[in-house]
Amino acid sequence: MRRVLITGGAGFIGSHLVRAVLAPERPLGAVRVTVLDSLTYAGNQENLDAVRHHPGFRFVRGDITDAVVVDRLMAEHDAVVHLAAESHVDRSIAAAHAFVHTNVLGTQTLLDAALRHGTEPFVHVSTDEVYGSVPFGSATEQHPLAPSSAYSASKASSDLLALACHRTHGLDVRVTRCSNNYGPRQYPEKLIPRFVTRLLRGENVPLYGDGENVRDWLHVDDHCRGLIAVLTRGRPGEVYNIGGGTELTNKELTGALLTACDAGWDRVDRVADRKGHDLRYSVDWSKIHRELGYEPRRDFDSGLAETVAWYREHHAP
Ligand code: NAD
Repeated sequence: MRRVLITGGAGFIGSHLVRAVLAPERPLGAVRVTVLDSLTYAGNQENLDAVRHHPGFRFVRGDITDAVVVDRLMAEHDAVVHLAAESHVDRSIAAAHAFVHTNVLGTQTLLDAALRHGTEPFVHVSTDEVYGSVPFGSATEQHPLAPSSAYSASKASSDLLALACHRTHGLDVRVTRCSNNYGPRQYPEKLIPRFVTRLLRGENVPLYGDGENVRDWLHVDDHCRGLIAVLTRGRPGEVYNIGGGTELTNKELTGALLTACDAGWDRVDRVADRKGHDLRYSVDWSKIHRELGYEPRRDFDSGLAETVAWYREHHAP
């Protein structure tokens, strides 16, 4: 039986991945999953309620920078999906230290332990933000890394450390770089859950700058299918972009959210642009499509409607 360690499994994407891996379809076959998560403000054990009593599930509250805990767990597992991170760009602009500590030192702590115990494959979940702004076309996996924020710089550092561990030591590391995820259970600080929860409470929403920044939106379920494909069939030392196929300006996205929440443009406050705000992210995901047969399946309009419905049920006043 495969034993998989999932770091950050109480967070938004990690908890969806845990549920997907333990679903009745059993995409990994018989599997035991351990979540290692320190439960920062972004982690929520309720995200894992659906699997709490699953015989293949275990939760360990611990920090990925804690070498003792990490070493003990790594010895008990034969694969890793590493998602634990400080993940919000705005927080990294205000205070960068925690991002370096968790994202860089935490990743190296995991890599060192994986190497000691031969725990592989080690799937490192990175981000399309490591490419920086892509004004036209789409970034392939060979695109230079040019991160703009402390968040994306710390993710680029951990991404490169993971690849270096493969090149130097031969650990089976696989890196994924995905676009912006959306779906239920995201901590309401990122654009979609923040706007939706504020609109449902009758509050205004803050739109950065001219709203012309472009993001590619990836349903979290599609992302998890991509991660499972890389974990099961990816190649050692390879990087895989995972895209969602729906590019929107923040203004277009705001329009869709206003409609979904029965609100008008009078509820939008224009605020000063984010410092160092990347204009556009766009990944070329033809490699994962070609090699692993991945393509996004979730239609954006219905995925967004379902997400708004989830917040209406769980966060509305
Ligand atoms: P999240 O902020 O919702 O969850 C992060 C989880 O990591 C939380 O449960 C938190 O408690 C845990 N954590 C944080 N620091 C920890 C530490 N030191 N030790 C142990 N656990 C710790 O993040 P998310 O949106 O689910 O993102 C997951 C991963 O995907 C991150 O690595 C992020 O960089 C990457 N990613 C996310 C997106 C997105 O749109 N959300 C896009 C691209 C890449």
